[in-house]
Amino acid sequence: MSNPRTTTRSASSSLPGETFGTWHADACQIVIAHSALESVIDYSEHDLYRELGGFLLGPVPPSGQRVLEIRDFLPAVATKSRATSLTFTHDTWAAMTREVHDRFPDMNVVGWHHTHPGFGVFLSGYDMFIHRHFFRAAWQVAMVVDPQRKELGFFQWQGDRVVGCGFCCRANDN
Ligand SMILES: [Zn+2]
Repeated sequence: MSNPRTTTRSASSSLPGETFGTWHADACQIVIAHSALESVIDYSEHDLYRELGGFLLGPVPPSGQRVLEIRDFLPAVATKSRATSLTFTHDTWAAMTREVHDRFPDMNVVGWHHTHPGFGVFLSGYDMFIHRHFFRAAWQVAMVVDPQRKELGFFQWQGDRVVGCGFCCRANDN
């Protein structure tokens, strides 16, 4: 699944790399490293019947900067996973904090990822609950992958709403 399928394609972007989806002019533009995108997709395909999840890592955008960079991906451990739900447990958060501290000391959790095997790319009411409570910084994003339909999408804050948005995939040697 090296070619993520998306709805529309932006023709005008000054960002380096390939862009997908619709941009919101007044929001951060998401730029994900190609290696991170591959990691997310590979991990998402590990289980086509139960939800998986993880964390998107990158630097916190300096204030005023309009680009959110995602440089790496960390699978979530100790989750409770079912066909249509995923729960991050206390151990999930503790392990994530430890891993980021030990392995990615220069990075922060800039968003989260989970899969919807076979039921499409959107945020459910429960997903919104997680996003509102744990990823409430204006620059934090959510990513949903459907590994059966081979679709993926990002969501970001726009005021107090969370909306679907486009992204740019940057080759790692840029
Ligand atoms: Zn969900």
